[in-house]
Amino acid sequence: MEVDLLVIGGGINGVGIARDAAGRGIKVLLCEKDDLAGHTSSATTKLIHGGLRYLEHYEFRLVRKALQEREVMLRLAPHITRPLRFVVPHDASLRPMWMIRAGLFLYDHLARRDRLPGSEALDLRTHEAGTALKRDYRAGFAYSDLWVDDARLVVLNVVDAAEHGATIMTRTICERLERSASSWRAQLVGDDGTVTEVNARMVANVAGPWVSHFLERSTPVHSKRAVRLIKGSHIVVRKLYDHPYAYLFQNPDGRVIFSIPYEGEFTLIGTTDLEYHGDPEKVEIDQAETEYLCSMASRFLAASITPDDVVWSYAGVRPLLEDESSDPSAVTRDYTLDLDDSQAPILSVFGGKLTTFRKLGEEAMEIIAPLLGASEKPWTETAVLPGGDIPDGDLARFGADLEKRYPWLPGALVRRWCRSYGSRVSQLVGAATALTELGEEVLPGLYAQEIDYLINNEWARTAEDILWRRTRLGLHLPADAEDTLQGWLERERPIMGHR
Ligand SMILES: Cc1cc2nc3c(=O)[nH]c(=O)nc-3n(C[C@H](O)[C@H](O)[C@H](O)COP(=O)(O)OP(=O)(O)OC[C@H]3O[C@@H](n4cnc5c(N)ncnc54)[C@H](O)[C@@H]3O)c2cc1C
Repeated sequence: MEVDLLVIGGGINGVGIARDAAGRGIKVLLCEKDDLAGHTSSATTKLIHGGLRYLEHYEFRLVRKALQEREVMLRLAPHITRPLRFVVPHDASLRPMWMIRAGLFLYDHLARRDRLPGSEALDLRTHEAGTALKRDYRAGFAYSDLWVDDARLVVLNVVDAAEHGATIMTRTICERLERSASSWRAQLVGDDGTVTEVNARMVANVAGPWVSHFLERSTPVHSKRAVRLIKGSHIVVRKLYDHPYAYLFQNPDGRVIFSIPYEGEFTLIGTTDLEYHGDPEKVEIDQAETEYLCSMASRFLAASITPDDVVWSYAGVRPLLEDESSDPSAVTRDYTLDLDDSQAPILSVFGGKLTTFRKLGEEAMEIIAPLLGASEKPWTETAVLPGGDIPDGDLARFGADLEKRYPWLPGALVRRWCRSYGSRVSQLVGAATALTELGEEVLPGLYAQEIDYLINNEWARTAEDILWRRTRLGLHLPADAEDTLQGWLERERPIMGHR
């Protein structure tokens, strides 16, 4: 196979580059060794945020760029994003009022805001968000950021890349890269052992936590850059409060954690920041992190949380650009693009947040496009992601219209589909005119038609892909749901369903 650009890594940064490049007419092949968003990019706090905390580290340039992306992503993907109002209870023993006020002033003014409201001071004795807190917290502030379904953001970028002509190979590892003056020869190996040889004019190494390891193990290239691996974990508990606000809690150790309404019935609490030297493949939350998150949230919340309340948890490894900081929370969240063009070019990405992936893609294209003779004109800032073409971005109205159009669909299903697939719900429903025409209900609320849509359009292969990344149904279903679905896939869709 001959391509212009081989992208290694199907996390948010790899797919962002692949989409941008494909849209400029570049012949792209993206390979991902596991599932799309199978690693860091589905283990995030799920925020498109400026990063209030980074202001303390004077990262004004990064915060400004990130703040701008909130409004952009709300426009491009109104189905999988939603504005989220954060409440910061004031703790007199920690940061002083003036410091929080100054930070929020910068947050409001560093970038233009069209739809997200600015910050405000709150009286927590009377404000709704005060009801879930201990009575000692009387004053606080509120500000806005954006929530996003991280794994779906990845998948929608891939769908768009493919619709612009990119070839996508999941469960396919790039084992080796050989270099000549004008091209790369790559050996890609599928999980069934199939070997594909690819000639590429250029390579983008977007392997996230594996970026340095990949260069060392599989290429002749050496980079002066490195990533520092910082583990972060989250816990999920049953809903702790009924209002729609999220909280930012300041901790005595100087860190902050978030408590966020999650998936209707749950509260998501995270995260930790721990130096990590293990295999990124095997990262998982440990007992000390669970206890830390429970005790930090319990300092503020009226209800106290214990490890027994945890119904689910997840962990990921941040691939942060090494900057020699002694404190893991202080390591820069910015990124660097490192080009080696001593022979055929390879661009390696070190760092890069979910929030800034689109800008990172544009900046990567400033390097890649001239090398490949492609268009140097950015295009992604105004191009909605698949399913995001919702009139005025008004999801509530769009959902109500869908309920009228498909009166036979249960309301809860329409609402879930609307938030996952946006305008592509019509493609999912296809010619069906009754619930029975969606095929077997394999698990409560999961019909064969949706499973097939995910297999055929979104590269889903296993029950885990479907229940934990393409949808979040895993959280709502009994513990044996994954085995039931996996059994069904192996029986009914034998080519696709093997793990
Ligand atoms: C706990 C936590 C919370 C976070 N919260 C937020 C947040 O709220 N907002 C935010 O903006 N950012 C957040 N981040 C940061 C963000 O998640 C990451 O910076 C981002 O997901 C990194 O994406 P990536 O594409 O670089 O890496 P990954 O998502 O890890 O993708 C790299 C991919 O490369 C693949 N790969 C590796 N080697 C090969 C190979 N040889 N062949 C083929 N494929 C290969 C891997 O399988 C992997 O899927 C958080 C991170 C963590 C850990």
